[in-house]
Amino acid sequence: MLAKEHNSVTKYAVNILDKWKQEIIAPEVNNLINEYCTYPDSYFDVNNGGHKKASRYYFETDGIQFHYIPDTQIIDKYRYWNVNDGKLFAGGESENLNWKHAKNGFTYYLSRAVEFIKKNKLKDALAYTGCLLHMLQDSCFGLHSLEGPYGTDLFVLDRLFEYGDDISELPSNILVQEMPESAVICPEYVPLLLGNTIEEAVFMLYSRYVECCLKSRKISFKIVLNHYERKSNKDLYTEMFHGIVELSADVINTILHIAHDKKEHLSNVLLSELEPIDRPWGLGFYRFVTLLKNKALNYEKKLVPLKLIVKNSEMKFKKGMSFGSHSEFKFIYDLPENTYEKFTCYIGIQTEFLNEGNVRIKFINNGNIVFDEIFNKENPSSKVLINNPKKYFEIIGSSPENTRLKTVITLGNPQFIHLE
Ligand SMILES: [Zn+2]
Repeated sequence: MLAKEHNSVTKYAVNILDKWKQEIIAPEVNNLINEYCTYPDSYFDVNNGGHKKASRYYFETDGIQFHYIPDTQIIDKYRYWNVNDGKLFAGGESENLNWKHAKNGFTYYLSRAVEFIKKNKLKDALAYTGCLLHMLQDSCFGLHSLEGPYGTDLFVLDRLFEYGDDISELPSNILVQEMPESAVICPEYVPLLLGNTIEEAVFMLYSRYVECCLKSRKISFKIVLNHYERKSNKDLYTEMFHGIVELSADVINTILHIAHDKKEHLSNVLLSELEPIDRPWGLGFYRFVTLLKNKALNYEKKLVPLKLIVKNSEMKFKKGMSFGSHSEFKFIYDLPENTYEKFTCYIGIQTEFLNEGNVRIKFINNGNIVFDEIFNKENPSSKVLINNPKKYFEIIGSSPENTRLKTVITLGNPQFIHLE
């Protein structure tokens, strides 16, 4: 993203904050908008003063600057399988480096920003804030949104489209163009509070960052297609701009909130809206759909409501998720501590698939097995209640003998209830 664009994203993010929050940062806000939010780029300015100024606020994990963080590795999750004892098992394991770097960087910058506001050192607080905003703005806008969460490399579109001899028609060149001035409009948005603690804010920010990046990635594809069809991209740029202004506003809002100990009752969080750090890709009957939010697929592969048999009658769920079951699957969420009182959901085999095999499902909370049941025609679903969910929260499925490929697992209303 161009420096000028970082400046205008940050300016609009500040504009949509509550007035009392704008007043707190007022003495340094121009520096935040014009300078601090470009520090991760200034770090490379070794010939002038930029490097020296920005170095104080530099952060890295494993030698990689918190700026363009590694992609989520997903290839191991769908490509490599093996057979042992007559059962299929996943061949590869890989750490989610995207989450590792995001968690470290988010924690570092949010903590520093809050700490320096508490010490009345607004300049440092906003310099740390600016670095975090910069990383999010780069990652979730245009060309770089092709990288990161489940990402590829930024040349992927160049390999997919024909652009002839005109190098300005190369998708990567289209996507680094300055966005049209007319697309820069302030969104109507009430910034979110991502958490009452740093840990909770880091966790919720990760889901927001992934959501925003994936949305911009889709928009980037459309911008290239539109450009080739000589259609206006103004509205698409506005949509992408709003996404990153809103995310930036959420971050500043949350920092100021935590720094001023303004605890707020946050609503319960749906598991299906959260970003797992490990999840399956491509399973059984769902094939490449991998996971559906708030819907399931029936035999004809049409979308239907989430449905489970609960106490002999069918129950439908507006919220939740479903996925096809293979010989094994695993979801892992890296939960903050001291945040949730309990987790509840209904889980079982989606009604249409009750005659199609069985599945064993375990929930593991912070290393302890807290739920372990086999689902089949006789036991189609269960209500789950897990107290004090924290740290690694895992949902693991496996085949008791042979899970047939047409089994579909549904989670109805899966939610984390906040501590009072
Ligand atoms: Zn940058």
